[in-house]
Amino acid sequence: MNEFALIRQFFLRPAKRVMQGGGDDCALVLPRAGQVLAISTDMLLEGRHFFADVDPAALGFKALAVNLSDLAATCAEPLAFTLALALPEANERWLQPFSQGLFECAERFDCELIGGDTTRGPLAISITVFGEVPSGVAARRDAARAHDDIWISGELGGAALALAIETANRTADVPHRVRIASLVERLERPVPRVGLGLELRGLIHAMIDVSDGLLGDLRHITEASKWGATISESELPMPEQVRKLPLLQRRRAVLRGGDDYELCFTADRGQREAVIGAGARAGVAVTRIGEVTPLEGIRVLGIDNRPLDDATLAALSGFDHFG
Ligand code: ADP
Ligand code: MG
Repeated sequence: MNEFALIRQFFLRPAKRVMQGGGDDCALVLPRAGQVLAISTDMLLEGRHFFADVDPAALGFKALAVNLSDLAATCAEPLAFTLALALPEANERWLQPFSQGLFECAERFDCELIGGDTTRGPLAISITVFGEVPSGVAARRDAARAHDDIWISGELGGAALALAIETANRTADVPHRVRIASLVERLERPVPRVGLGLELRGLIHAMIDVSDGLLGDLRHITEASKWGATISESELPMPEQVRKLPLLQRRRAVLRGGDDYELCFTADRGQREAVIGAGARAGVAVTRIGEVTPLEGIRVLGIDNRPLDDATLAALSGFDHFG
């Protein structure tokens, strides 16, 4: 199968919402009047972002989902995406489920594939998404205000626990593989909070999606906004399996674990009912976990309501590829 047959068979679909989709030198996209384009790129590399033996359908789904999460964090509505793919070989038994998972996510969030690039090389997937958001409504990291509530969608720590289990399954000589389907689902098929992002338009101040751990990502908001934050450990929502972990592992999963793709946002206290209503309409729980403070830095109140010390916090900050 040559390059162009591969592209035609697995990745070209007729354009629906854009003026011109894949197959020509450029796709052509006209945003609706009054809207700006929100654009974001994420790259997934074998060995770094996913295991070589991961289910290709899940990988296709996740590759797009993590990009859609960035649109959600901007309150943008998905429109289109491009796909740059490096493949070691044109393996149809891999490409078929990969493209099926990819389009499953694309259809669910109404985002169309409008072009890309395909080359031979070590497996790498880079997607750029394009979304629309009314000018002036896009959520940013630098817009938090002192005394805002801090909110989180869904639950934290599930993906980190799944990753720890999957890693142990592959490295240690464990007698048998452990697989907890509901957790693996969080790691391999995260659900981007696109609907919630749309419902929160105009209600919130700052927002970010949690891909590198709550502490690290919240710090992006506090630093950009030049405020601080206090969050309460006892308020943090987490799956049952994470709640049962020993304290240090639980903290690691919930405060530092990445890959949950939940939304962390700040809003005026007067918006509490409106925020809860937005979550209900979007079908996702939203939990108030703390507040923005005039004092810089992030404080975490432990279960006993006393702040965790600096050494404990330092050990829990977010993931950094070059850290
Ligand atoms: P060019 O050489 O003009 O850059 P290519 O030969 O790389 O074009 O690609 C041919 C067409 O196929 C282009 O329209 C491109 O957007 C599309 N395409 C290539 N790879 C992909 C892919 N992985 N997914 C979707 N469309 C793709
Ligand atoms: Mg090209």
